[in-house]
Amino acid sequence: MGEPYLTSKLQGFGTTIFAEMSALAVATKAINLGQGFPDTDGPDVVRQAALDAITDGRGNQYPPGPGVPELRVAVASHQHRFYGLEVDPDTQVLVTCGATEAVAAALLALLDTGDEAIAFEPYYDSYAACISMAGAVRRPVTLRPPDFALDVDALRAAVTPRTRLILLNSPHNPTGKVFDREELTAIAQVAQEHDLLVVADEVYEHLTFDGVEHIPVATLPGMWERTVTIGSAGKSFSFTGWKVGWATGPAPLVAAVRTAKQFLTYVASGPFQYAAAVGLALPDEYFVEFREDLQRKRDCLAAGLERVGFEVFRPQGTYFITADISSFGADDGMAFCRALPDRCGVVAIPNVVFYDDVDAGRPLVRFAFCKRMRVLEEAVDRLAGLRHEGSAP
Ligand code: PMP
Ligand code: GLN
Repeated sequence: MGEPYLTSKLQGFGTTIFAEMSALAVATKAINLGQGFPDTDGPDVVRQAALDAITDGRGNQYPPGPGVPELRVAVASHQHRFYGLEVDPDTQVLVTCGATEAVAAALLALLDTGDEAIAFEPYYDSYAACISMAGAVRRPVTLRPPDFALDVDALRAAVTPRTRLILLNSPHNPTGKVFDREELTAIAQVAQEHDLLVVADEVYEHLTFDGVEHIPVATLPGMWERTVTIGSAGKSFSFTGWKVGWATGPAPLVAAVRTAKQFLTYVASGPFQYAAAVGLALPDEYFVEFREDLQRKRDCLAAGLERVGFEVFRPQGTYFITADISSFGADDGMAFCRALPDRCGVVAIPNVVFYDDVDAGRPLVRFAFCKRMRVLEEAVDRLAGLRHEGSAP
């Protein structure tokens, strides 16, 4: 018995884990290392650009459907500056209401009823829901710890005559894995052999650590023409509430995504589009410092979780650390996360919700480290209490 009024396409999707866990954090006054949002805002100059746009009356009324020209030009310049891609701002860029809408519009535009979409699990929660809303079927390919490496044989085995596209997320939420060139080359080969499209969710493109390079799959030979690449101002400039995202790719693919996007929000976030354009034009130092700051936070939380006794899978990118709870005598991450606020005043996300193979995800939990250092330290102090309890959920 599902929800009585809900279409079969959305049965079982319920409330997102992020909403559930953020509500739990508020109710229990716990430290929220669940939902991935920074607890400090992004650069002043970007914030000021939004205030100026509102004051000057730019974007207060519906912006153009594909996005304001300033932002489309800025996205194209950014793709050229960082990746050497030549992108036409008029036909190859689409501004969206966050990356969430770009993902939804891409999947609704590109998948027909009964088509199959391959996604690497654990996968971001909106992927499964959007594939289902498109009337399509997801085919998961599991990434396994400790390094969540691509299993090329499993990828090949997941391809069927109904496969339409591969949904790739790198840097990868929730594991923090960054797909390397060899893995991307294997994905590109499979895509080209079977004439598949690729939807590349690269919202964490600037958040890689230890000198690890983010490689957009669209830069690989033969891939630009079959790839829609997605970015997010929320992630790159730490204003997750503004909901400015974008999709880039060859004109026919972007046109298809635009057709679906028109009937979702039509347009969104007018003044914030101007501000995102200012963000994308920030000098290289901004991106370097941003990454270094986050790397320090990753190091702090990773070391803290290890001290407390978690097995930590050190992320190469994103906001997130995945850890295994087995060392606490527990194996049910969902029960563990639901009990954690009461046990020690910290909220985390159970990775199992991102898996079809629930056994693979059961003992894994995700902690966000995009928080102030003292908040992370306090969270680790609280989690240390787990060591002194017996085993529990
Ligand atoms: N993709 C991934 C992998 C994400 O983690 C998120 C959420 N932050 C999004 C897409 C959505 O991004 P936005 O907030 O720009 O909609
Ligand atoms: N992307 C964020 C995360 O993974 C959550 C965004 C949301 O709540 N939809 O934590």
